[in-house]
Formats: sequence, structure tokens, C-alpha cells
Amino acid sequence: MPILGAHMSIAGGYYKSIDSGAAAGCQCVQLFTKNNNQWRAKDICDDDVSLFRTQLATHGIKHTLSHASYLINMGSPKDELWEKSIDAFVIELQRAELLGIPYVVVHPGSYTTSTAAEGIQRIAVALDEVHKRLPEVTTKCLLETTAGQGSNLGWQLEQLAEMLQQCQSSERVGICVDTCHMFAAGYDLRDESIYAQTWEQFDQLIGLERLLAFHLNDSKRELGSRKDRHEHIGAGEMGLEPFRLLLNDPRFTNIPMYLETAKGDRPDCPAELTWDQYNLETLRSLNTS
Ligand SMILES: [Zn+2]
Ligand SMILES: [Zn+2]
Repeated sequence: MPILGAHMSIAGGYYKSIDSGAAAGCQCVQLFTKNNNQWRAKDICDDDVSLFRTQLATHGIKHTLSHASYLINMGSPKDELWEKSIDAFVIELQRAELLGIPYVVVHPGSYTTSTAAEGIQRIAVALDEVHKRLPEVTTKCLLETTAGQGSNLGWQLEQLAEMLQQCQSSERVGICVDTCHMFAAGYDLRDESIYAQTWEQFDQLIGLERLLAFHLNDSKRELGSRKDRHEHIGAGEMGLEPFRLLLNDPRFTNIPMYLETAKGDRPDCPAELTWDQYNLETLRSLNTS
């Protein structure tokens, strides 16, 4: 049975994300360790850490993932933003490590006014700089596959492979695959043979052993749209088939999968379910093992 969960809010304390994850039936929980739209953050205190760890144990949740701030752009050609991004990502890894979170997922970056090749190089150098500053930290960085909006990098598997090749500390870097982003980037995971080819390509270019987390989202926008718009599972352009394939793929049984779909109560029947509970139920119903 796959490991399924969702992104949860830390409003009221880090441990709240674990409580609400458990209430929704999550076996894994993703969270921000700081406000995702701000550079600054309050320090994490000992109480925060102990409450968080206690609630993980209480609910038996063994997998957590931190999502880095959306402001970070390690591909930026502007030195000021690039350096600020390195500083901020260092803090993201330190905060996750403090909470015992093994991975921080980050969008690789955008090249804005430069070129894709330059952006990729900047990202690789930034990752090396981050790792140089944190020789003791064991929390790993996961580069997320992106939809390829604007100049966002990491929507083609070749780009991610290139980042890893240029990065000298790549043993400290893994990959998080977002299903909506892959689909928006043009990988038609609905088609069984393209599904098979995509993972073969992933394995050749990157190595499946580097795939350490999934974001499970359907897509509001069509195949190859390069637009990042998440939809509830089965309700978007992807439909249920890609999720059926993923949830029954023995290669991914032990890789945590996180929903990043809209929150709230489901307006129609069955009324007592939240959207997270409903999406998790849908996903679990697809698994035949
Ligand atoms: Zn994602
Ligand atoms: Zn997204």
C-alpha cells in the first residue's frame, strides 16, 4: 500500500500540521517551516521541536517533508537575489533538520533575463554553496519537477539531470515529482506506454533511486499547457488513470506521496468529508494490492 498524505498548515504551531494530517488520514505530512511568502522567520524553539516530535510519535506519522519558500530563486542572474536565495535555503535546511524533517523540496529556480543554460549553472553552484555552508546537516534537498511556467527551470527531465551533473554535492540532492507539473510540462502520464517511457527516461537521466517524494495533484490545465494549476484528484485534465498507474507501481510503494490540492469541506455528498479525506479515499480506492 502506498504512503499517502497531504500538505498541512502550521497555523497555531508546527505540531498542528501533524494533528490535522492525522485527522485527515495522512500517513505523511508536508509543511512549510516558515511563512512561504516571507524571507524572515521566527526562530524555532525547543518547545516547538518537542511538541512536533511528540505528535509525530503519537499519530505514528513516519514521513515528513518541508516545502521551501516560493521566494527562493537559485537560478536568478541577479547576484543580490541569488545570494539571498542561498542564505534562505540554508535556513530552510537548518529549520527542517531541527524538526527532524529529512527532506526540503524546492523549486529549482527561474533564469528570468538570462538563459536556461546559465540558470541551470547558477542552480548547481548555489546548491554546492548551500552544502558547503552546512557540512553537518543531513536533511536533503529535493528539486521539484516544475510545470515550466515562464522561465521556470526543471520542467524537462534533461534540465534536472543537467543540474545534478553540474552539482558537485549531488549526493545530497534528490527529486520530488509533481504529477500536475509533469503533465503540464507535456508528459502524458495517462497513456500507459508514455508512463512507462517517462520512468525509463527518468531512470536513465537521473536514476529512480533519486526519486524520494511525489506531489499528487490533478491539473486544471491541459497537457503541455506549462501552467501550474492544481485540481482535485480525478477532477482535472489528468483524470484517474495516471494515479491508478502510480499507486499500483511497485517501484513507488515506499515513496511518500503528498496531495497539494485545495482545502475545505467537499460541498456535495458525502458532506462529512473534507477535500483531503475525499482525495485520499479516491487514491486509496485505486490501489489494488
Ligand atoms: Zn508540488
Ligand atoms: Zn504546483
